[in-house]
Amino acid sequence: MNILPAVAEILGPIDFDSDALHRKYIEERDKRLEVGPRVYTHVTEEFARFVEDPFDQGSPHRAAVADEVEFALIGAGFGCLMMGARLRQAGFKSIRLVDSAGDVGGTWYWNRYPGVACDTESYVYMPFLEETGYMPTRKYAGGQEIREHARRIAQQFQLYDNALLRTSVTGLAWDEAARRWIVSTNRGDRFRAQYVAMANGPLNRPKLPSIPGMTKFRGHVFHTCRWDFDYTGGDSTGNLAKLGEKVVGIIGTGSTGVQCIPHLGRWSKQLYVFQRTPSCVDIRVNSPTDPGWATSLSRGWQKARMDNFNAILEGYDEPEDLVNDGWTAVFRKMMGPALKDAERRLGRALTGKERSQLMELSDYINMNRIRRQVEETVKDRATAEALKPWYRQFCKRPTFHDDYFPTFNRPNVKLVDTQGRGVDSVTERGVVVQGREYPLDCLIFATGFEPETSLYTFRAGYDVVGREGVKLSEHWSEGLRMFHGVTTDHFPNCFFLGRTQTGTSLNLALGLTYQTAHIAYMVSQARTRGFEVIEPASEAVAECVEDFRRQARAGLRFWTECTPGAFNNEGNPTGKNLGADSYGGGAKKFFAMLESWRNEGKLSGLKLS
Ligand code: NAP
Repeated sequence: MNILPAVAEILGPIDFDSDALHRKYIEERDKRLEVGPRVYTHVTEEFARFVEDPFDQGSPHRAAVADEVEFALIGAGFGCLMMGARLRQAGFKSIRLVDSAGDVGGTWYWNRYPGVACDTESYVYMPFLEETGYMPTRKYAGGQEIREHARRIAQQFQLYDNALLRTSVTGLAWDEAARRWIVSTNRGDRFRAQYVAMANGPLNRPKLPSIPGMTKFRGHVFHTCRWDFDYTGGDSTGNLAKLGEKVVGIIGTGSTGVQCIPHLGRWSKQLYVFQRTPSCVDIRVNSPTDPGWATSLSRGWQKARMDNFNAILEGYDEPEDLVNDGWTAVFRKMMGPALKDAERRLGRALTGKERSQLMELSDYINMNRIRRQVEETVKDRATAEALKPWYRQFCKRPTFHDDYFPTFNRPNVKLVDTQGRGVDSVTERGVVVQGREYPLDCLIFATGFEPETSLYTFRAGYDVVGREGVKLSEHWSEGLRMFHGVTTDHFPNCFFLGRTQTGTSLNLALGLTYQTAHIAYMVSQARTRGFEVIEPASEAVAECVEDFRRQARAGLRFWTECTPGAFNNEGNPTGKNLGADSYGGGAKKFFAMLESWRNEGKLSGLKLS
């Protein structure tokens, strides 16, 4: 790489060969691409037992409902809980949550694996802290505390009243004559709703690898999002006392694997960790909430903190870093603040080439630091080498954990690096990698969830039939078509929450905060102005989609050079994204646009009747 003079002036001497490093990244990516397209097994038919609810204590029996509500909210994770709370605040009375789980919480209901936690700061991630008067116990909250907070929101905003839990929606159809949605479920319900909003979640359908012999294994087997504590003992904080005599294998070393492997290492007789691609694991450092700080906060602090966190992650040069953690450190070093600082030092604006070279080299420097951390922590040389990530940091979701690497110093823990190829096969006795069989008592899949690139309606588990029989699966067969990231044409009074062609932040709660406020505004306006039905005009949707596509094209080279994974459609970044889309201009810009639209008060682009 021919290092540009301005970049050399800012970074000082570069003590590594950036060309060799770039080549290594490409080689590592190619190793994974050579194996062929990555295929997964859906959790249906013989694999359906992987999604049964092991946590529900409630009774599955109740009478079917056939009534009418103002708002049906599909999904009881943070998306619809926040939506329900906003609707209550706006005065909506008749709200019904529907969810297949036995309680609210969404991803936090299902994911109870030992060590489950959110590595995004609790003060910006856990919604409605001011409204509920709750202060998390630690900077990074554990899954159980987050699940309890979901329950707190549901209780405070009376969202349990009228809720249908243990219930999956099977169909949603618009009845034009009645101007209502007909919601059908697997429990025989058939009720009407004036409005529907759905937050099916980005991580709602676990996926399994497609490995020959998957059904042959005779030992115990489960996915991390349905952890079998009856088998392992313990709970989401650890204490897996029943594993003392067990040989355990885990496939998957993503964010989930990184959090539960330290517990498995501590409690199993022998643990084999089957790795395809190493995660990038940086230092976390958790700390209890300082009561003095908590009482010093003034009204509006949470929103301000969320905005500040997001702005830093989007490269804005904020005067203060309120969250000040591993996430913000990376962005401050590589993006906005670092670039602004460089410009101040140079006394001029950076050229496009200078900016991109500066970001690339800063990324290499940062990843060299992370690779050095592995070397310094893991004693066995070969294991340390195999745990080093060879890609730019945001090619995969970065993780933060302080006990992951030390786990590999335990005598009972063995990393089985598959050299990017994945596990070869599963047998009756265990797992085979490069010709060697590893006999196991228990096999755990930490293999993630159906990707957001898959069809939205497939992940939701039902299709939506809008005006004149238009099916959502067909309407979005070429990709999402959204107005303001929350609604689409031909589907009146129908709203979507999540990464649906909107401004998204690494802090998912930020996007949901803005989306739910925007939807609450639209429906409140419709009500105040005396309208019953609200739907975006097709031209307005087309305009939004066009703006979105223009912005989304940026970054294609970056994604093409990345190791395959969820962020780049498993190494195929030009592929269609049928389930999720993020605004290229960033969440701050996107939601500022929506705010100006609201301030105009004209509801332009919407048809009301
Ligand atoms: P994931 O990121 O999709 O990771 C799946 C893992 O399984 C990867 O390591 C993958 O390897 C591996 N894998 C898949 N097929 C394999 C095969 N045939 N052989 C060997 N390995 C195989 O899933 P996840 O870890 O459950 O995380 C999903 C999402 O949950 C994250 O992106 C994050 O958004 C969220 N999450 C968040 C937190 C938090 O703290 N906020 C915690 C946990 C999860 P490759 O890397 O080679 O594909």
